[in-house]
Amino acid sequence: MSAVDVIDRPRTWPSAMKGRPVSGSCRFCGTSFRHRVVDLGMSPLCESFLRADQLNQMEPFYPLHVWVCERCFLVQLEEYVTGEEIFTDYAYFSSFSDSWLDHARRYVDQMIDQLGLSTKSRVVEIASNDGYLLQFFVQRGIPALGIEPAANVAKVAEAKGVPTIVEFFGVETARELAAAGQRADLILGNNVLAQVPDLNDFVGGLKILLAPSGVVTIEFPHLLRTIDGNQFDQIYHEHFSYFSLYSAECVFAAHGLPIFDVEELPTHGGSIRIYARHAEDASREITDRLIDLRAREAEAGISTLGYYEDFESRVREAKRKLLEFLIEARRAGKRVVGYGAPGKGNTLLNYCGIRTDFVDFTVDRSPHKHGRFLPGTHIPIFPPERLWDARPDYVLILPWNLKTEIMEQLAGIREWGGQFVVPIPEVTVHP
Ligand SMILES: [Zn+2]
Repeated sequence: MSAVDVIDRPRTWPSAMKGRPVSGSCRFCGTSFRHRVVDLGMSPLCESFLRADQLNQMEPFYPLHVWVCERCFLVQLEEYVTGEEIFTDYAYFSSFSDSWLDHARRYVDQMIDQLGLSTKSRVVEIASNDGYLLQFFVQRGIPALGIEPAANVAKVAEAKGVPTIVEFFGVETARELAAAGQRADLILGNNVLAQVPDLNDFVGGLKILLAPSGVVTIEFPHLLRTIDGNQFDQIYHEHFSYFSLYSAECVFAAHGLPIFDVEELPTHGGSIRIYARHAEDASREITDRLIDLRAREAEAGISTLGYYEDFESRVREAKRKLLEFLIEARRAGKRVVGYGAPGKGNTLLNYCGIRTDFVDFTVDRSPHKHGRFLPGTHIPIFPPERLWDARPDYVLILPWNLKTEIMEQLAGIREWGGQFVVPIPEVTVHP
């Protein structure tokens, strides 16, 4: 297949909506919502960890209702809370996961190789967090710029030698950078696309910031895996949209950035990394693996409403099974504690109604979370050492996407007969 086929192939995508998304309608194409995928009830913002002095105050809860657009099949939440409310003091520091750092290092090596990046190139990462990834470009002498809305994590990136501007990315920021001669040969965004409230402004910005023969790579959890793997805890307010390759192609093509390649990755329970380029750039051909994944999504029915129909009943059954396990364990006098305090854990615990009646406490490697409490459920967060003092019978792994790494790190709990519990796709005990 030639590069021209990418542009001219007889597939028509909906066009992007102009202006800010309107409540109750698709944030890409503006079609009104009519088809609900799942209702996870009311939940607090998953990153709003509480201090002890906040425990007696009211906590805002927002609906967690997921919709699928019948026109572009973008799965999404309404924007109940603005991005500014969520992301300006974000407690998540990417560098606290070893496997995520390895993932970043491998990506940097691969891109330098594949795109022939040099000291004359320019790399921009959107939502660059604490510089966990760009530091590897900087180490190789490749000019890099991070764009990160949370000032506290951006400060950590600067300390690592990663130049970072504190901004939300969109058309306006892209125009300023392009005017300053900063168009990029590589723009990347890992786990940010889901978090963009104004999707068309974001992807429109990519079009402006990308150099004529540049490449955009974007990683996000793959909707096919989220639905097939019953990963309902990937759904939280910070994630406004849930993409398939199909819906991502709709969005990017509408902004003149056709996707020409895709990689499937094991991260976050199954992600994809899409590669896009300017529609005007005929130098990159679409790959067989893109054609293959399109076919597999089509076969699963991802662009039909039927595909989304039984998700809610499977989610409810997973909740019943997890509660059944916990009730039985606690009734038998077993001690259960958590591991990790990820966003997904808060969806799981709030949806299932699991508080300190089931899980005594959780532990996390990030010192920023120690001494705080999980939102909604008020489960206290301690440093990992606490596990060894408490000697629990069960450790419930909340970031189950890292279960292999965590079970290795905590192999010592077996000394006292401790076992691991993984909640997704449904509760499983690992002796
Ligand atoms: Zn739509």
